[in-house]
Amino acid sequence: MSRTGIVIDKLFVDHDNGMGHPETSERILAIAEMLRHTGMRDEVTILEPRDATKEEITLVHTPEHYDKMASTRGRPRVFLDADTTTSPASFDAAVRAVGGMLSSIDAILEGKLDRAFPFVRPPGHHAESGKAMGFCLFNNVAVGGAYLTQLKGIERVLIVDWDVHHGNGTQHMFYDRSDVLYFSAHQYPFYPGTGALNETGSGDGGGFNVNVPLSEGMGDAEYIKIFSEILGPVIEQYKPGFILVSAGFDTFFEDPLGGMRVTPEGFARQARFMLDAADKHSDGKIAFILEGGYNLDGLWICTKEVLEELLDKKRTDYDIGSQPTAADDVIEKVKKEHSRFWEF
Ligand SMILES: [Zn+2]
Repeated sequence: MSRTGIVIDKLFVDHDNGMGHPETSERILAIAEMLRHTGMRDEVTILEPRDATKEEITLVHTPEHYDKMASTRGRPRVFLDADTTTSPASFDAAVRAVGGMLSSIDAILEGKLDRAFPFVRPPGHHAESGKAMGFCLFNNVAVGGAYLTQLKGIERVLIVDWDVHHGNGTQHMFYDRSDVLYFSAHQYPFYPGTGALNETGSGDGGGFNVNVPLSEGMGDAEYIKIFSEILGPVIEQYKPGFILVSAGFDTFFEDPLGGMRVTPEGFARQARFMLDAADKHSDGKIAFILEGGYNLDGLWICTKEVLEELLDKKRTDYDIGSQPTAADDVIEKVKKEHSRFWEF
């Protein structure tokens, strides 16, 4: 079995968006119950909680944004945008969520773990350098990317974002950089509005931002074909030293926010695809981090499927042949748009 680390912490339950909000503490409780019920709690390494420092968080965020988030500490509810709020514990939770990303990275770089999946709240990929939005305070995965390239000497980092929403924050933070490649497949047009095909990066970052905008209704076959036909060749040519996955589970077929049709087995396939890619191209170095996913039963079963792949308890076959799918048109468009940067 592979050595797989997780991060889970009471602070991720304490962060509270208020009554009726889909990004609820129960998401973490569902995952904790899954870990207990399946016995996987005893098969993973539970990493010591660690808080990210201001220096680490401001690798991608402005000091003003950090200070603004810090000022919410201990205060009752503060509204940051229409659907993003803080409770007294939210700042501490957000700092520890980033820390969960970083302690996972450290343990992998130090060779203590093969892989990791921090189960954190709040999620991160919508947070911009100077702004909280879309349930996100700090951009966990983006701090991870900057930490790896700027402080840990990793030359190229790949961030794969399979959340149903586009990770506007992550895209913007690395838009003109070639040392962090952002790949996202997402529902479009949809919240947050970014993620068009022709957003390919600028300056030195040209070609290092790959968007696959999808109409709703895409399922297992479409996602794995997108991975095989677009992401696979990009990884092969980019040769990342580390892979980070913004793992949202709101493409699940019964998610209340997303409009996709991915099954639990589909998530197992996506995870196995990423693990194989990491083994082949980044010396196995890969960490997943929780983003969205709002159907609690879906979160339970889908994180179970992914964790079983990380632990190598099973190896789901993702080679589904090349039958036509509803994503074929957009796959061709993405290839065409990116043909000046990548060979497909
Ligand atoms: Zn999402």
